[in-house]
Amino acid sequence: MRERALAPYAARPGSSRGRRYREPPPRSRSEYQRDRDRIIHSNAFRRLEYKTQVFVNHEGDLFRTRLTHSLEVAQIARSVARSLQLDEDLTEAIALAHDLGHTPFGHTGQDALNDCMKPYGGFEHNLQSLRVVDLLEQRYAAFDGLNLTFEAREGVLKHCSLKNARTLGDVGERFIKKQHPSLEAQAANVSDEIAYNNHDVDDGLRSGLLSLEQLSEVKIFARHMKAALRGHPHLAGRRLIHETVRRMIDTLVTDLIRASAQNIRDHAPASLEAVRLAPPLIAFSPRIRDESHELKQFLRRNLYQHYRVTRMSSKARRIVVDLFRAFLSDTRLLPPEFQVRTQEHAPRAIADYIAGMTDRYAILEHRRLFAIEET
Ligand code: MG
Repeated sequence: MRERALAPYAARPGSSRGRRYREPPPRSRSEYQRDRDRIIHSNAFRRLEYKTQVFVNHEGDLFRTRLTHSLEVAQIARSVARSLQLDEDLTEAIALAHDLGHTPFGHTGQDALNDCMKPYGGFEHNLQSLRVVDLLEQRYAAFDGLNLTFEAREGVLKHCSLKNARTLGDVGERFIKKQHPSLEAQAANVSDEIAYNNHDVDDGLRSGLLSLEQLSEVKIFARHMKAALRGHPHLAGRRLIHETVRRMIDTLVTDLIRASAQNIRDHAPASLEAVRLAPPLIAFSPRIRDESHELKQFLRRNLYQHYRVTRMSSKARRIVVDLFRAFLSDTRLLPPEFQVRTQEHAPRAIADYIAGMTDRYAILEHRRLFAIEET
């Protein structure tokens, strides 16, 4: 009955390409609901609570973590999916899983681990998210990983090099054929951008690393702050920030839905297979795309490259590199379950162990390995 509300171009749980290991169909939920539920029950999902988005976990209780980021992405993505009659459960599953492979300490951690892994095949967080759901979660008797549907797995794999795509089988194919994933995956992907641009503005202001004066140079922010002040001329401080940010999110989401609906009408894909062959259809209008890009560039220059963020990043990099080197020079330092896996490929087992760490676990592990006095 639920499937009837879906558009012809939506991913339909009843027509899924299926799971890697056959399982009886769920009794009281759809295949994509089952995917979503499995993600929420995973260890990797709970660890997102203690992984950095921009600000390292111990810097303050109000900053976004990977967990609250993923929830915001899911919330935005579900609104988009519902408006476009896409499968909301699949969209939500992809949004909740999209960062499961992230290392501790945000992008710095990923870059540091990638540098360490260069001679051994590299490290890429999208690929690692797929590895988490395909292999690293060990909870089910009959298989490794979460055994998600093909559509959830392809959604998690947002980017991938051609070299890696060739080794991945079914989910790698689209990178070779230059096709696109479901609109559900595309919706989750653009929602990620909406979520982080906006919450990074909010966190940036909260931390004092950004100021309202600076942000007034950014078109989309200035326009919405003016709109907030028009209705409430005496508004200031946190309430002004919130009223501005919520207006920006509303504009971005509304524009995304409108422009995507138009793209869908123009291309009229009759099925998910037609979606794969079409250009990306979930996209902003040109004007909003440019404004969103301007905001992104502003955040890169003024927040992500702020010297106080850079200082934290340089510490984080040192921790990841130290851990990797220590484990590689003596794999007996690894916990037994990872030691076993070093027989197959030691650097990859070490990367899996480090990538799974939360910020605070990585800091503690570094202390355990390098501090001379007992801590
Ligand atoms: Mg993200």
